[in-house]
Amino acid sequence: MSASPELIICQDDQLSVLSPTPEFVELACHFAIEAKTRLLECGLHQPNPIEIFLVERIEHDIGDCLATYDCTDEIIRVKQPESIADALVEGSPYSVLPTTVIFQALVSHEMAHALLEQSSRGTDLAFVDHEYVAAVMELDIIDPEWRQALIDAAPVRLPPKPGLISALIYGFEPRKFATNAWQYFNAEVDGCERIRQIADGNFSFTDQPR
Ligand SMILES: [Zn+2]
Repeated sequence: MSASPELIICQDDQLSVLSPTPEFVELACHFAIEAKTRLLECGLHQPNPIEIFLVERIEHDIGDCLATYDCTDEIIRVKQPESIADALVEGSPYSVLPTTVIFQALVSHEMAHALLEQSSRGTDLAFVDHEYVAAVMELDIIDPEWRQALIDAAPVRLPPKPGLISALIYGFEPRKFATNAWQYFNAEVDGCERIRQIADGNFSFTDQPR
């Protein structure tokens, strides 16, 4: 017998989790609140509630993915930790991480998309700018030891090049895109300033020379 999923409100009542099993609800709330705290420190906001659905499968235009954020209904969908390992394609850089850390990275990534969208007040942000902020957050928030392991699995030579933060690179090498994004963020005097500029529509990587 399986109980029907229940929407559980996190300690932060603007966040809630819907899950078929209670097992990962607390963890999802914890990671979402942690990501939100970091994003608020960076100057983003969460005016509207966000629901996080833990699911076994995610059907998407581009196939089966690990996590998504839907800005029309403010719902984040993330694979439950149990389903993550099976979903990784062979040789995926993520496979160097424990499942819980991948889950943390995915929740942080989608929370970044959600808060960036909510902070941009209707401004249409470029795809590459959205993915920049999401990639930065997921790498910045995980334990430095695991961050390094993930970067080592998809290395990009320093110094970071803003011209490589492009939708094209994201399409071919999403993990190298993420490495370059975080290295760029980390090399800036105040990486959060760039994120605020993106949210305000005052900066876009689409304008960078290639
Ligand atoms: Zn993304």
